[in-house]
Amino acid sequence: MSNTPFVKEMHAYLKLKGLSLADIDSDYLKPALELAKARILCSCKRGSRYPDNLDNVTDLDLSLLSYPLAIAILAYIGNPILTRRFAVYEARRAGRFLRWEPEEKVVSIARGTFGWDIRRVRLTIGKRTYTLAIHFTDYLSVSFPREPHWKLVNRIMLEGYVLLQKHELARLIEERVRRNIMDKIENAKLDAVPKALEEASLEILRAVRSSGLTETFPSERMSSYSPQGYPPCIAKLVEDATAGKNLSHTARFALATFLLNVGMSVDEVVDLFRRMPDFREEITRYQVEHLAGLRGSKIKYSPPSCENMRSAGLCPEELKDALCNRVRHPLMYYYLKIKRGITYGKEKKPHKEDIS
Ligand code: SF4
Repeated sequence: MSNTPFVKEMHAYLKLKGLSLADIDSDYLKPALELAKARILCSCKRGSRYPDNLDNVTDLDLSLLSYPLAIAILAYIGNPILTRRFAVYEARRAGRFLRWEPEEKVVSIARGTFGWDIRRVRLTIGKRTYTLAIHFTDYLSVSFPREPHWKLVNRIMLEGYVLLQKHELARLIEERVRRNIMDKIENAKLDAVPKALEEASLEILRAVRSSGLTETFPSERMSSYSPQGYPPCIAKLVEDATAGKNLSHTARFALATFLLNVGMSVDEVVDLFRRMPDFREEITRYQVEHLAGLRGSKIKYSPPSCENMRSAGLCPEELKDALCNRVRHPLMYYYLKIKRGITYGKEKKPHKEDIS
């Protein structure tokens, strides 16, 4: 079960241990913290598999405890690309494992952990033999509407149940695991950050930046930032700053961290704040350098998520567009928009799903 830390019983097991994030500094959790860092670093390398010594960790405690610790580290770092890589990597690993498990076990996980309504069937249609069926509402909650193979219209349905083969159920579980990990990281609330967690995060960031893994950060991959990709919230803040309006502390933080993350230089960010009524170059430069990870903790800060932007009154409802409905983070908006070709001057037509 150490390869399926997402299953319900595992959460109960961890609860039983009575451990919390505050214990991260303890000797007991040190090996688990090391494994958590290794899991994250593995996920950053494109196409990398767990090294043997990690894949074969037989200590259940160690493997299980490293999972929430990795999630806490990524929540603290707050980099959407690292988050996505980790979620995909861990989900694929779980999927690989499930494909080798007996069907009974895969079904039990789908029912017990995700509450899916699964039925056992036996039907051969054409060259395919279906042994499972999932209620269409559960199917729709997790399948891949853009992929022809998974579109509901291309599936065989019987009395409200979609027929599946075992490997397809494993794939759906994999996708659910991916989404759950993303949710956990993006919505984690870290009230107090223990020193060991901060140090571990710093270590990850240094390793990512210094060992050829920088492709993880689109900002570093792009030679220059592209204002056409700014989400409405940031475009408005840029407009306000340029007009010399007095921005709140949170607005300044959001604006500066966003621009630094998409590749703007410290000088350019400082210049943008020049028209603020209370502008003082030395102080602004010091603060921007701090946010850029050039001072103090050396952590490059991420801008707030959409949820936090909303809570701070910085998400302009009236300016939001279709892409806003697909993202949870202003940086993700930017990355998606850039990926669609705006940087190169040819925006692709949006998919139907994007504007629904
Ligand atoms: S939904 Fe997110 S990206 Fe869009 S304007 Fe609001 S905060 Fe910005």
